[in-house]
Amino acid sequence: MDYPGNLFVVSAPSGAGKSSLVKALLELDSHVQPSVSHTTRAPRGQEKHGREYFFVSEQEFDAMVAANGFVEWANVHGRRYGTSRKAIEERVALGADVVLEIDYQGALQIKQAFVNAVLIFILPPSWEELRSRLERRGEDAADVIDLRLKNAEEEMAQAGKFDFVIINEVFERALFDLKTIVHAQRLKYAAQRRARADTFESLNIP
Ligand code: GDP
Ligand code: ADP
Ligand code: 5GP
Repeated sequence: MDYPGNLFVVSAPSGAGKSSLVKALLELDSHVQPSVSHTTRAPRGQEKHGREYFFVSEQEFDAMVAANGFVEWANVHGRRYGTSRKAIEERVALGADVVLEIDYQGALQIKQAFVNAVLIFILPPSWEELRSRLERRGEDAADVIDLRLKNAEEEMAQAGKFDFVIINEVFERALFDLKTIVHAQRLKYAAQRRARADTFESLNIP
């Protein structure tokens, strides 16, 4: 499926800084919009239904799967997460850039459905730093942190299937890298041809 807006898919092991980076990108760039996923996990402290996620029951999730309501969904750390068709198709069709923060299984499904999707993998600088960020975030119980670290090895082994890799060591540097990827995508011929149609026409470029 071709589309006018760009679809950015950001994956990372839990704690690498994916949500912080995407949040900072959204604050800097109003043309990029988030896609709010559905999940069967419980909300954390400050999380609000419809903002970070749509928090749904197992039954509600089953019903959406049965109705083909997800463009992708996957089991992650023992819970189910999915991107609803509605969350992306409407926005992308309007020409917005949409960013998805999803796990690698979902990212690879999105690449099948949207060949132009840009897949970005965020890596932590080290195992020690990954663990200490999960602990510092203070949102997950010790057994949840252990499970997420255990899963991180398999997740990071998928980085080679992505188009871009950002190592989130110094936050500002990683954010700059993310902005650069978004910006480069907007400089592609087809995007410029559409965004700057007047200039192309005045230059007699067919
Ligand atoms: P430079 O050519 O020596 O500036 O080094 P780079 O090629 O790494 O950086 C190019 C651009 O990246 C510069 O215009 C900087 O503004 C920007 N930049 C580099 N590192 C950072 C950083 O950590 N944070 C931010 N915000 N911008 C950075
Ligand atoms: P994810 O969404 O990948 O699980 P978060 O964005 O929640 O990760 O980040 C995990 C923790 O690490 C948060 O407490 C966040 O503030 C912190 N963090 C993110 N990036 C950096 C960084 N470059 N340096 C230090 N701490 C960071
Ligand atoms: P968290 O519970 O920390 O918010 O997210 C856990 C994992 O689920 C992360 O790897 C995150 O990227 C992934 N995730 C969040 N939403 C979706 C989604 O809609 N689809 C898929 N496949 N993964 C998701």
